[in-house]
Amino acid sequence: MRAAMQQVGSVLLEQLLNSDHGGHGGQRIACGGGHQAEFVDYRAKHLQTILGEVEVRRAYYHCAQCREGGGRGVIPKDQELDVVGTSFSPGMRRLMARVGAQEPFDAARQDLAELAGVVVPTKAVERVSEAVGAAAEAANQAERRVLLAGEVVPIAEAARLYVAMDGTGVPAVPRETEGRAGKAADGKAKTREAKLGCVFTQTSFDAEGWPIRDPASTSYVGAIETVEDFGPRICAEAARRGLHRARTVIVLGDGAPWIWNLAEAYFPGAIHIVDLYHAREHLAAVGRLAFGSTSEAGKTWVATRRDELDDGDVEAVIAAIRTLSSSDLKVQDELRKEADYFETNKLRMCYKYFRARGFFVGSGVVEAGCKTVIGQRLKQSGMRWSVTGANAVIALRCRLLSQRWEDLWRPAA
Ligand SMILES: [Zn+2]
Repeated sequence: MRAAMQQVGSVLLEQLLNSDHGGHGGQRIACGGGHQAEFVDYRAKHLQTILGEVEVRRAYYHCAQCREGGGRGVIPKDQELDVVGTSFSPGMRRLMARVGAQEPFDAARQDLAELAGVVVPTKAVERVSEAVGAAAEAANQAERRVLLAGEVVPIAEAARLYVAMDGTGVPAVPRETEGRAGKAADGKAKTREAKLGCVFTQTSFDAEGWPIRDPASTSYVGAIETVEDFGPRICAEAARRGLHRARTVIVLGDGAPWIWNLAEAYFPGAIHIVDLYHAREHLAAVGRLAFGSTSEAGKTWVATRRDELDDGDVEAVIAAIRTLSSSDLKVQDELRKEADYFETNKLRMCYKYFRARGFFVGSGVVEAGCKTVIGQRLKQSGMRWSVTGANAVIALRCRLLSQRWEDLWRPAA
């Protein structure tokens, strides 16, 4: 039944697509590069659509002056149909990229066949997903220029805007990790770090005064890229979400210095909060280092420090760590680093103050984001990514999970 309907559909579609003059616009047309292209003949193209394969007849022009005199073909009909350099219709590409963003390319191929009756090779799903991901990133960059230039006033107005950032490893092919130090046994990197940022807003509290994240207010941006490149990315997203109209801006992160450097550079005046659970993990680590992992004295020590932390007394925590010592020089060094961690971040750990104001003190949203945006699709067993491939899929997933998929398919204004 489905096959028969698709066949009828594709016949009608083929007639429709060929009902004009194949994009013929006279003997000569502008080539787009400032020259004139000459009509040559009509050429057929087989286009794969959701309704099946159709043949489209297109006027073919040639510009002799393009590509430094080497010549270039110009096909207005392909531009009109948005199929330049591809044999997949836009609807088909949308479907392939959506499925490719959500599951491994071969599983995507199987689902396309099963659910949509669309039969394509796995490699085509991969290529189209990458191309659409690259287009999504190009759209991000264009949007960023406008946002950072302050030319757009966001519609949303939030009392509190949260920006949370984190990094997560993506398994990479060997050529992408060459010469990079890593945590593997041989000291070589097996992964590349993807940076993920999420922005959400908060306007209300529950009956006990705990903050409630605004429903459907979380959006994501991310890529495998340097801190310098990630800064404008997260800043543009925050701007899009109402950064300049928010009364309070809060940056949440673990202790990673790059997060706080970006916060200083891009969100001046923001409140910095180190994720409470990371701070607690550090306390637990100190307990293990100084007392061993099963010691009762160690447990008591950690519990006391946790209370101090909750009570906003970071100075007491730092002082307590500094009094610990070990004859093992390595352990001693670790203890000093832990004390420094609390020292460096002490203003970001005023949990009593933060709680009294009803701020979120956990970065669970971005950690969950690392799992859903990156982990679920890019960190499955046996996967090895190129940076280009990974970034394309991350761009698609950020769009999907930020409820911005539709934006990608609106005709350009
Ligand atoms: Zn030309």
